[in-house]
Amino acid sequence: MARPKILVVGAGFAGVGCVRRLERRLGAGEADIALVTPFSYQLYLPLLPQVASGILTPQSIAVSLRRSKKYRTRIVPGGAIGVDTKAKVCVVRNLAGEIVDEPYDYLVLAPGSVTRTFDIPGLADNARGMKTLAEAAFVRDHVISQLDLADASHDAAERTARLQFVVVGGGYAGTETAACLQRLTSNAATRYPRLDPRQIKWHLIDIAPKLMPELGEKLGLSAQKILRDRGIDISLGVSIAKAGPEEVTFTDGRVLPCRTLIWTAGVVASPLIKTLDAETVRGRLAVTAQMSVPGRSGVFALGDAAAVPDLTKDDEAAVCPPTAQHAMRQGRKVADNVIASLRGRPLQPYMHKDLGLVVDLGGRDAVSKPVGIELRGLPAQAVARGYHWSALRTNVAKTRVLTNWLLNAVAGDDFVRTGFLARTPAALRDFEYTDAYLTPEQVREHTEAAHLQQK
Ligand SMILES: Cc1cc2nc3c(=O)[nH]c(=O)nc-3n(C[C@H](O)[C@H](O)[C@H](O)COP(=O)(O)OP(=O)(O)OC[C@H]3O[C@@H](n4cnc5c(N)ncnc54)[C@H](O)[C@@H]3O)c2cc1C
Repeated sequence: MARPKILVVGAGFAGVGCVRRLERRLGAGEADIALVTPFSYQLYLPLLPQVASGILTPQSIAVSLRRSKKYRTRIVPGGAIGVDTKAKVCVVRNLAGEIVDEPYDYLVLAPGSVTRTFDIPGLADNARGMKTLAEAAFVRDHVISQLDLADASHDAAERTARLQFVVVGGGYAGTETAACLQRLTSNAATRYPRLDPRQIKWHLIDIAPKLMPELGEKLGLSAQKILRDRGIDISLGVSIAKAGPEEVTFTDGRVLPCRTLIWTAGVVASPLIKTLDAETVRGRLAVTAQMSVPGRSGVFALGDAAAVPDLTKDDEAAVCPPTAQHAMRQGRKVADNVIASLRGRPLQPYMHKDLGLVVDLGGRDAVSKPVGIELRGLPAQAVARGYHWSALRTNVAKTRVLTNWLLNAVAGDDFVRTGFLARTPAALRDFEYTDAYLTPEQVREHTEAAHLQQK
């Protein structure tokens, strides 16, 4: 008899957590495991701002999926572009651009999320995200280009505009990005003697009244004070009304000539979720506490892409926030539930109490709240870096990250632009492939046509 096929989509915190547990707990003859992923690594997203600011090299947070001989999962190199849960087929566009059908008995959907955008004129073409390794590398090159161009320019207005940098989004991703990049550009003063450091200005804006509300009142204010003391201009209750290639218009009416707009105003579930035509909760796939998708046999979903009920809260409608800490734990629990389904045992609900938050603001600046304890400065930084370091999956990745941190602390920044992405289109959709997906009707037409061909 053919072995059951388990197909996992997405090699992030959730997908890799699931696959590694399946490999450990399932006998080789019990099921075939396959993983659909466009990249050959798991991206450690929380350290992405440190790649953008050059503290870490891109490779150090790209954790290899092929590190060990024990990894027996078949890797399908490509992106899933649609799912037909009736035919039990996942449609994949592979790296060569060919469409491949992957039939499954059990499907685990962990494609994460993409940058959330709004219908703001010019945003999609002029803002850059902070969600993929390519985006972080692009932002780094772009920021250093602005320093180089301002340094070389004889036009005072152009110099001023190139030295204005705007980050939208006061969550941890945006705050860390602004903080780490501001440190990079303020360190530039020693390497760009023609630039006036007082002209370099970072603007962090958010429509909400507070930065990182998860930190609580006191710690949130500490983070704001650290950033303001470093010269970052924070505007709360403000967003972007219009984004152009050479200026940004804020909703409070200010118009800022600038060439850099980094957009980190939240995430939405991967567009793959819509192809299922199933119930969603604010864009995330609705799932049970066991992370199965109601009415779709053998389908599970988790991580940023799914609205997993948060059983630690009294509110019945509460769902787990989109964080790595939940995604990796959900990955392991989904693996256990897939195995339980295979063996005809009852499924277990997911439950995890938040362990807190760590926010690395670069250098010695940080705020952390591990298990409710508020920390600032060096102790917070030690907890933040210690937490990330221990969460990296392989010893090679751990060594790379530690070596990079030490090297950066001793030798500082090098202001190198790779130039690889200088002439590629750099809009959000180009980096996050948001227009690659089929509609539910196209998925059905495709699987029906493939079925007829087989007959
Ligand atoms: C800058 C930044 C900083 C952050 N800092 C923190 C932090 O400090 N602490 C914290 O807990 N969380 C943090 N997060 C959030 C955290 O990274 C996410 O919640 C977590 O990565 C979600 O895990 P996931 O497995 O659902 O998705 P991801 O880790 O994003 O993985 C999804 C994977 O699926 C792949 N994929 C996407 N579409 C497809 C497709 N169609 N087919 C196949 N594969 C696909 C992607 O390439 C990716 O590898 C941060 C996020 C960002 C962007």
